[in-house]
Amino acid sequence: MSKSRCPICDAAMPGNWQDYPDYPFCSRRCRVIDLGRWLGEDYRVPDPTPPNDRSSPADGD
Ligand SMILES: [Zn+2]
Repeated sequence: MSKSRCPICDAAMPGNWQDYPDYPFCSRRCRVIDLGRWLGEDYRVPDPTPPNDRSSPADGD
């Protein structure tokens, strides 16, 4: 049985993974932290600025 470590806080997790309801995290808190990281990294949305904003008043007809 190989030992596991929490990918968040690097805490040693001896025993079976069945002992950890939040595996591969050592605790619910680390699970939430990991989830927050994912959401944070995925929160990058492109700038919704329109590419052609044709509102230039210099365009005299
Ligand atoms: Zn942890």
